[in-house]
Amino acid sequence: MNAKVHILLIEDEKSFCSYITALLGRSGYHITTAMTGTEGLSLAASLCPDLILLDLGLPDMDGFLVLEELRSWSHIPIIIVSVCSEEQEKVKALDLGADDYVTKPFYPGELTARIRTALRHSRSQAPSQIYRALNLEIDLDKRTIHLDGEQVHLTQIEYQLLSLLAENAGRVLTYNTMLRRIWGPYAETNNQILRVNMANIRRKIEKNPAQPQYLFTEVGVGYRMRENDTE
Ligand code: CA
Repeated sequence: MNAKVHILLIEDEKSFCSYITALLGRSGYHITTAMTGTEGLSLAASLCPDLILLDLGLPDMDGFLVLEELRSWSHIPIIIVSVCSEEQEKVKALDLGADDYVTKPFYPGELTARIRTALRHSRSQAPSQIYRALNLEIDLDKRTIHLDGEQVHLTQIEYQLLSLLAENAGRVLTYNTMLRRIWGPYAETNNQILRVNMANIRRKIEKNPAQPQYLFTEVGVGYRMRENDTE
């Protein structure tokens, strides 16, 4: 099914390139490797891959610069694969337009799941109007939410937040992105309002808000909603 999906890996560590090529090859992906940022940019333009995996620590260029250059002309999904563990770096990469990130070391299944999610979002012209996972169903057309078959009542802001997350199920949304999308460009510094609303939503849809099944916190970065069951 993935036979024709072409992934460009921009990464300077040879052993990691071989590992990724073998891992993704087994899943049916075709991989091209670039060992420098310059080579990566030129291959991205000439090959038009379906997805790019980008390491931030490259020998010739800052990985963030590679990301910015790619985003200046391309919507190709980009997943950061990096040793970076600083939350600020993750936030910066996502705010610069990366679709997701995976921190090394990672479980093989984690990378392939992120790739599937990013490809699905890049392909679907009209996003699915129904979110369904475990016992939660959100109808984005009718603006209704059901948990275990019972209707859940949210405030307007809570609904906007939950539907934004549901439309992006499986991907992390940074605090800044969520604040901007719901409260406008001047709200970016007000994390508290977001936390309060997210806590309220969790109380309404999570059986145990301390161990969420639907809304996961990416500490210091943002939130990620559980993927749709159907996909
Ligand atoms: Ca590197």
